[in-house]
Amino acid sequence: MRHSVEAVAIMLVMSMQIVSPAGSGDVLFQVSTISALMDGVFDGSMSFGDLKRHGDFGLGTFDALDGEMVGLDGHFYQVRADGSVQEVNDSTLTPFSDVTFFDSDDEVALGSSNMTQVERCLEELLPTRNIFYAIRIDGTFSHVRARSVPPQSRPYPNLTIAVMNQSIFDLYNQSGTVVGFWTPSYASGLNVPGYHLHFINDERTAGGHLLDFQLMSGNASIDHTDGFMVVLPDNKDFYAAGTGGVDARELEAVESMKPG
Ligand SMILES: [Zn+2]
Repeated sequence: MRHSVEAVAIMLVMSMQIVSPAGSGDVLFQVSTISALMDGVFDGSMSFGDLKRHGDFGLGTFDALDGEMVGLDGHFYQVRADGSVQEVNDSTLTPFSDVTFFDSDDEVALGSSNMTQVERCLEELLPTRNIFYAIRIDGTFSHVRARSVPPQSRPYPNLTIAVMNQSIFDLYNQSGTVVGFWTPSYASGLNVPGYHLHFINDERTAGGHLLDFQLMSGNASIDHTDGFMVVLPDNKDFYAAGTGGVDARELEAVESMKPG
């Protein structure tokens, strides 16, 4: 009897997960928190084999902060600090990633515009600032400025120190895809508030964490995402990390750091 009661309880839990209150059923699945990454929790805690079961689209980084991750159409790429791009093995680990199964809800054609103009235009299309969005922009770009970070070694510095050694890539006349998310401000500490965007070109030979771009023309797709699931690292570094959230200005500097 006891077993059948447990089975009923498990079925109830499963059905509660499937039914989404807002109806779309889209879930942003995240490994770790941005505050832990800021704090230098760089050891990978989930394999890409496992991560792929939660999404075909996304961004993140790698064990020891070895580059920028771009996930697109079920393929996951590693952009290293030397600019090289390779597809990720399932056994590779990530210390921080965001993924979802991309399912477009809104689409808009974009003309010649810079990154700020595109971001403002898309924000006007968001029905609320209280849910998450996955953002995809396929287009041609006269200029893309992206960055990647070199692998770190123990004892790990915090992210602010680590990105001081970032590589900046100025890419010209590229066809490619912007991959990323828009996160509500109340999720600060868990994720990057506002836009967090990465880039990969069509040839899958260049990309990284986006700092700036000039779009010639493109199409943006927005996936309204009303579910948010976080899996926390089960390791000593995370257990010992600060829990006070992130300094908004420090995070902004890390995410949009310009050279010079
Ligand atoms: Zn990034």
